[in-house]
Amino acid sequence: MQTVLILLGPPGAGKGTQAARLASALSSPHVSTGDLFRENLGKGTELGKKAKQYMESGQLVPDALVIDMLFDRVAKSDCAQGYLLDGFPRTVAQAQALDTRLQGSKVRALNLAVADATLVERLTGRWTCKACNHIHHERFSPPRQSGRCDKCGGELFQRNDDTHAVVEKRLSVYREQTKPVEAHYRAQGVLSDLDGSRAPDEVFKAMLAAARGEGR
Ligand code: AMP
Repeated sequence: MQTVLILLGPPGAGKGTQAARLASALSSPHVSTGDLFRENLGKGTELGKKAKQYMESGQLVPDALVIDMLFDRVAKSDCAQGYLLDGFPRTVAQAQALDTRLQGSKVRALNLAVADATLVERLTGRWTCKACNHIHHERFSPPRQSGRCDKCGGELFQRNDDTHAVVEKRLSVYREQTKPVEAHYRAQGVLSDLDGSRAPDEVFKAMLAAARGEGR
């Protein structure tokens, strides 16, 4: 049966970092709507042009654009057995659209909780690899060579929505529009709550166990 794993939690909770590790441990494709938008932005596509203003100001891209883009991606053959969603759904309307699409599939949602002060510190110090999307942090996981990714040697950049002002906006958008998505999955009995403030390895182990349905 197709199994879809959904990672929930505020920006900076560690979804991207953990999703990459989980995807490789579970041999499941990592589908990040933020990465898909950044790819479109980089290539200058129509979709990228439409998404740009929302992304740069920390707002959500309208549901219809996100849902179409995501559904196109997960229709590809590598997702047939299942996939791991990072950054989607971010509104209850997106969650409802996904429910309709996933009837008959197994769904599990992992919710990472982290205090706001920690999120701001994590996001404003974050450096992402242009080539492989690996994430470094200037204090918590600095690259061995300044400006270069430890994993692939690619160039590191600071996302322009990781500035202090845009991070505050993203957190308030999260509280208003994305937080209710937790209740949506809790009501379905498929949500696991996890403490995302622990060391990355510990969080990873807990997420992997929850993804496999252990301890339930
Ligand atoms: P992320 O990399 O997940 O933090 O996403 C970066 C930005 O892309 C967000 O701040 C939004 O502007 C946009 N975005 C990504 N995923 C979604 C989504 N599911 N719904 C609406 N906007 C999204």
